[in-house]
Amino acid sequence: MSVTGKTAIITGSNSGIGLGIAEELAKAGAKVVLNSFTDSDEDHALAERIGKEHGVEARYIKADMSKPDECRALIEQAGACDILVNNAGIQHVAGIEEFPVDKWDAIIAINMSSAFHTTAAALPMMRKAGWGRVINVASAHGLRASPFKSAYVAAKHGVVGLTKVTALETAQEPITANAICPGYVLTPLVEAQIPDTMKEYDMSREDVIKDVMLKRQPSKEFATVEQLGGTALYLCSDAAAQVTGTTISVDGGWTAM
Ligand code: NAD
Repeated sequence: MSVTGKTAIITGSNSGIGLGIAEELAKAGAKVVLNSFTDSDEDHALAERIGKEHGVEARYIKADMSKPDECRALIEQAGACDILVNNAGIQHVAGIEEFPVDKWDAIIAINMSSAFHTTAAALPMMRKAGWGRVINVASAHGLRASPFKSAYVAAKHGVVGLTKVTALETAQEPITANAICPGYVLTPLVEAQIPDTMKEYDMSREDVIKDVMLKRQPSKEFATVEQLGGTALYLCSDAAAQVTGTTISVDGGWTAM
């Protein structure tokens, strides 16, 4: 079974990892639905560019993943969902006592609850089509903790738990559910932090990357969005038909420690 002609919905895919996964799936022939909470000309142009470049149908649908009804509406509006990639996510760094309640609520909603709502809406479509792949983009922080990231770590551990339950509820059907757990990936979000960190520590770009950012990543290299796209593609392949309810780390050895 190839992904050619399958419909893939990737949440939070107008940048970074979501965009990388969308590109790899489109390159392999899937119809892709891009998403974020904005509705700009650039968002729609991005879908158009991907569609033209890979000769596939590509659409952009605005939906705010912090809102349960919009999560479900995204799937309904797409009209089909063979591959669901729950990727939208945000971060906030603060100690538990200072952690703003609105940030806690937003991270839990966007990084975790959205995956519950989209999965609930997508499973009937996968069952009807007789095939499906749920791919949740968790994190090394779905398996390990770091201080000052309470909401993010809680949400990502929650996503790993939801992945296991989804897998058990679909175990006897041609549907799988897995979580990809990236370590550090050089997305625009991470790239933007480098200049300030260079100033803060009076370090070169190379030293910031190796000694600050990749301190916990033994390979001392970032994972790439193409590698994550390739991992998603593997999970869609026949070779991965019995891979379900598990996590795949793409973290340069972080969780081996
Ligand atoms: P990013 O900021 O480039 O991408 C996040 C995406 O989510 C963007 O498209 C953004 O528009 C979207 N988004 C944010 N709020 C949304 C909302 N309310 N509704 C819909 N979309 C929304 O960051 P990224 O690094 O590509 O992160 C993507 C995912 O990968 C996240 O779940 C993140 O936790 C996870 N992750 C990233 C890294 C890393 O090092 N970059 C590591 C592990 C896990």
